[in-house]
Amino acid sequence: MIDPTINTDRAGEDFIADFTSLSRIGATPGGGVHRLAGTVEDGQLRAWLRNWLESRDFTVTIDAVGNMFGLIEWTPNAPYVLVGSHLDSQPMAGRFDGAYGVLAAAHAAVRVRRNVTATGQTPPFNLAVVNWFNEEGARFQPSMMGSSVFTGKLSAEHVLAITDPDGVSVEQALTALGYRGTDAAPETAAYAEIHIEQGRHLEKDGVSIGLVDATWAAHKYSAVVRGEQSHTGSTVMADRRDALVGASRLVVALRDLADTFADSALHTSVGQLFALPNSPVVVASEVRMVLDLRSADAEVLAEADARLHEHVAVIEKRDGVHIELTQAHFWGVQSYQPEGIDLARAVAGELGLSSQTMMTLAGHDSTNLKDVVPTVMLFVPSVDGISHNEGELTHDDDARAGVDMLTEVLARMCQGALQDAVLQHAAPAQVAQR
Ligand SMILES: [Zn+2]
Repeated sequence: MIDPTINTDRAGEDFIADFTSLSRIGATPGGGVHRLAGTVEDGQLRAWLRNWLESRDFTVTIDAVGNMFGLIEWTPNAPYVLVGSHLDSQPMAGRFDGAYGVLAAAHAAVRVRRNVTATGQTPPFNLAVVNWFNEEGARFQPSMMGSSVFTGKLSAEHVLAITDPDGVSVEQALTALGYRGTDAAPETAAYAEIHIEQGRHLEKDGVSIGLVDATWAAHKYSAVVRGEQSHTGSTVMADRRDALVGASRLVVALRDLADTFADSALHTSVGQLFALPNSPVVVASEVRMVLDLRSADAEVLAEADARLHEHVAVIEKRDGVHIELTQAHFWGVQSYQPEGIDLARAVAGELGLSSQTMMTLAGHDSTNLKDVVPTVMLFVPSVDGISHNEGELTHDDDARAGVDMLTEVLARMCQGALQDAVLQHAAPAQVAQR
């Protein structure tokens, strides 16, 4: 265990002060933040982080899709233990989602380095803090974009060409910010991430640290509902093929679908919808929307998916529209390496922090990373489970405990604690080769 006397920020006050400073960027009047990927605010966040890291002698590198790395090298050519999360947010969202994890990672890394310097025990692995580009997928879809490229699930060329609703590409947005990088991504041995829970379990059970053992499965579809443009006044009702009516029925069908499964086993939503031409006196010709279905049970999700397609066929017939569903982002119920959970549980015990295993309902960058390297995913409590909302809150004590926890986990990972962990899923690409 790291000697507590080495840590000059044992009370975590530096962390809280830095988090307050970071939270001013893109701050909203309601106490939240608005800082979408690739926007001016994202650029300000990046400048803040770069300055923080460089003033503490990290080497900052940027890869082709804007992932930022702050490197500490002890052993030349040795792979890195990565630790981080994302700085981008949803619109009018909370200040903890993602940003907490990036700053916790930065502070934990400094503490680990301080310990290495004090003890003279050079770890076999180097250490890098990471800020993944566009985890949220609010402006550019899909979500978890930077980590998807990093893990070989998407190509950089494909991602750079993706556009936002105004037609601005990822490449244009990153270039404008000066974050269309050319550095090679660091060769990676393992990954750790800490995040707010975004649910109520830890708070309800009075537990400090969540040890994430698996992900909920998710099916996200891009849907296009096509009807025919016509006059809202003069067109006879029987002649109308109203795309917005078809889209509305799809929204409600998806909501009702969730209610057909007991115990909240299925979560569904339509969070985005664009009507064309979106004029007051024109029946909509086309609606574009994103459907989101999630469950902890793969069979429930498969059943829900089948019923969704039945609903689509019924709506097409009834409203004279054509509905096209395209798989936008699918992931299954997948487990994290048990070795990482055991490591984190042991650390929590030694630090005197209560912990429990739990699944994550939300996707995280660690969802991608766990497929290619041993990965530890930790949660800290969220007040009332509120997230993607300005009211998102994690108490200072919980935030500080999370940094202590991450520090010790990271120290052991740099010493090779997860070297022998076995990957649970087939790696799609060699991480070291990009
Ligand atoms: Zn997040």
